[in-house]
Amino acid sequence: MIEDSPFVAAAPVLVPMPAERPYTYGVPPGMRVVPGSIVRVPLGPRQVAGIVWDGAVETVDAKKLRPIEEVFDCPPIDKAMRRFVDWIAQYTLSAPGMVARMLLRAPEAFDPEPWIEGLQRTLAEPDRLTDARRRVLETAEGGLAWTRSGLAHAAGVSSTVIDGLRAQGVFETVMIPPRPVVAAPDPSHAVPELMPDQKAAAEKLRAAVAADAFNVTLLDGVTGSGKTEVYFEAIAAALDNGRQVLILLPEIALTHAFLERFQDRFGAKPAEWHSDLPPRMRERVWRQVAEGGVRVVAGARSALFLPFKELGLIVVDEEHDPAYKQEDRVFYNARDMAVVRGHIGGFPVVLASATPSVESRVNASQGRYHRAVLSARFAEAALPDLKSIDMRRAPPARGGFLSPVLLEQMQRTLERQEQSLLFLNRRGYAPLTLCRVCGHRFGCPVCSAWLVEHRFRGQLVCHHCGHNERRPDACPECGTLDHLVACGPGVERIAEEVVGHFPDARTIVLSSDLLGGVRRLRLELEAVANGEADIVIGTQLVAKGHNFPGMTLVGVVDADLGLANGDPRAAERTFQLLSQVTGRAGRTGKKSLGLLQTYQPDHPVMRAIVSGDSEAFYEREIAERERAALPPFGRLAGIIVSAATRGEAESHARGLRRAAPQASDLFVLGPAEAPLSLIGGRHRFRLLVQGERRADMQGFIRAMLAEGPKLRGSVRVQVDIDPQSF
Ligand code: ADP
Ligand code: ZN
Repeated sequence: MIEDSPFVAAAPVLVPMPAERPYTYGVPPGMRVVPGSIVRVPLGPRQVAGIVWDGAVETVDAKKLRPIEEVFDCPPIDKAMRRFVDWIAQYTLSAPGMVARMLLRAPEAFDPEPWIEGLQRTLAEPDRLTDARRRVLETAEGGLAWTRSGLAHAAGVSSTVIDGLRAQGVFETVMIPPRPVVAAPDPSHAVPELMPDQKAAAEKLRAAVAADAFNVTLLDGVTGSGKTEVYFEAIAAALDNGRQVLILLPEIALTHAFLERFQDRFGAKPAEWHSDLPPRMRERVWRQVAEGGVRVVAGARSALFLPFKELGLIVVDEEHDPAYKQEDRVFYNARDMAVVRGHIGGFPVVLASATPSVESRVNASQGRYHRAVLSARFAEAALPDLKSIDMRRAPPARGGFLSPVLLEQMQRTLERQEQSLLFLNRRGYAPLTLCRVCGHRFGCPVCSAWLVEHRFRGQLVCHHCGHNERRPDACPECGTLDHLVACGPGVERIAEEVVGHFPDARTIVLSSDLLGGVRRLRLELEAVANGEADIVIGTQLVAKGHNFPGMTLVGVVDADLGLANGDPRAAERTFQLLSQVTGRAGRTGKKSLGLLQTYQPDHPVMRAIVSGDSEAFYEREIAERERAALPPFGRLAGIIVSAATRGEAESHARGLRRAAPQASDLFVLGPAEAPLSLIGGRHRFRLLVQGERRADMQGFIRAMLAEGPKLRGSVRVQVDIDPQSF
């Protein structure tokens, strides 16, 4: 008993809000809580779900203690997961409560799903036997428990027939447990014949899983080399060991084809987890993952926070993908956190990619990760022949963006009734609109960015804050009518050019802003895979993972696009994107071609792509990083300070810099205006902290924040450890 209070004990509870520590609550008599219990507690005027945490409680005034209201009837969050939450909070400098919040995102799941009343035939006979009734009785004969509607459906009668029989006591009622969201996968359902190098790689992975201890393997193989089949073997091994498996995928639109492939191999689909999942489904998946009913989850980065009962393997597919980085509230890279999760849980992690991140390549070469390599495409499929088109020598016709060389290959591809893909990583019609008379440019009122014209929608749109306005006919500055010009291409404009050249071809644009969202996108991707389009024009979402059997030509409209910004990661990103997108061609053994339109054909990235010599590219890139002491050879963090006025943001950033402690292995660069200096009306300044690999980055930044100016007014500070761009 706690003195002067009605409680038997006090417990620390982590609540889903920016709290640095768990709050203390009273445990009423008769209530049993353990670390990890999910509980309902009062928080101000609200009630929230929280997690009973580890460690001692703070001393509190017993009279002010508020009670834990309820312990939910669900499995407690296990110790590994609690350590994982603490670890991420500490590493990313986030409040543990905000990390816990990611774990508590399926509130209804905390109560068990109710069992359903089911029906079984008992010995009683109905008073009158109609045809319909006989069918029902025959169907119910087998001893299964049926739901009312299930039985009606199976017997081909209306539910009222069931009700009639029920009223006469023909059925015994039994309780049926909630239906599993997915059937159990069978590791030996359809074991593939693997090619020799696949076999070797699969053996490595199987051995890693058999060790049942933490280890990381980088599965590195060109697009189409059969990596998926290989890591499926690791999954089979983990399932055989009675462990659950998590597969992380970067893109939701991609999961559909993946789920089917998984089903072909294991006879059942994995459970899906991503933000588009309907709430009811989220709850069921969360619950069944916690109870162990779901054995395999395929999900977006947030799936890392599912409360697995016995997780024994994580596969991160397309591990290099920037989509794994969350840059909102808690800034984390799901690839890196998957490795941490494996380390804490003591199980293996597989990172798969045709174009691994420089970080993972270095980890492999320095022996921290194992490496399994697939060097050839599967079966008769050959990588496309790759060439650059020097746009200085073969420029497009006036007003166009496609070189005659590319157009000619498109014509030939059409004649062979094969598919072409044009890739341009820019949504909309044109990235800039200006007035030919006065030079006025349309910019976003609240961001330092130009408005992008979306001609299908008749709008000018800001890609950073979503601001949009109708495209006017007259210039708002000088009033001149019909003299606005679109500068530069987006996918819509390329589509216009293509239709002009090939009016009879079936042309389709694939971009994430398609009306109809993910659902429509899925259908369109399937249509392309089924050969229902001749020419596809797409943004980066077509670059990833898809298998388009009829695709034999890939044209990159502007291969230089990603190289323009000054980011040291630009070369790596461009190399990855161009390899992935050209890898969409030639998946079925037909001769195929990839063409890069570029003004810098001698750039190392273009050379690496054209020659297919990715090793040379990595060597060079790794050497440069090492020379500049950039990640993974050094440590880096960004601190973004934003505020309603430029002055506030800048002075706060300067104050932080002055507060930096003396350290021999870390130093601060900046503040400078952030790459996007204004977003949504907030002015942004950035500090970079750089230093040696072993330096205590977190301690250093924590000291800056503690010693620096107090947060006042509209000022916000975000810390980004291991930033994507630097
Ligand atoms: P990656 O993931 O490396 O890009 P995939 O795993 O998608 O490559 O394999 C490319 C294609 O080859 C797929 O259509 C896949 O079904 C097929 N494939 C790969 N390995 C085998 C195998 N051992 N037996 C049959 N088909 C295979
Ligand atoms: Zn904007």
